[in-house]
Amino acid sequence: MHYTPSVIAKYSKTSDRCWRNCGIVGDFTHIFWDCQKIMEFWSCVKAELRRTLGVDLLINMAMPLVFKLNLE
Ligand SMILES: [Zn+2]
Repeated sequence: MHYTPSVIAKYSKTSDRCWRNCGIVGDFTHIFWDCQKIMEFWSCVKAELRRTLGVDLLINMAMPLVFKLNLE
């Protein structure tokens, strides 16, 4: 299980900002979807799936949510 910076900050004296140093609060949505750096990752995943499998996958915000549900 991953705890986001915003959750960890509630229980310790750490920063609630994104661990990718973009300066935005690191809640679940930001960490797994909204952060510019993770969006670059998702774009690479989409391009690689298209290149290797010929699949044009629709990547949207539900993907990290489904991933989270599978882990719990
Ligand atoms: Zn960020």
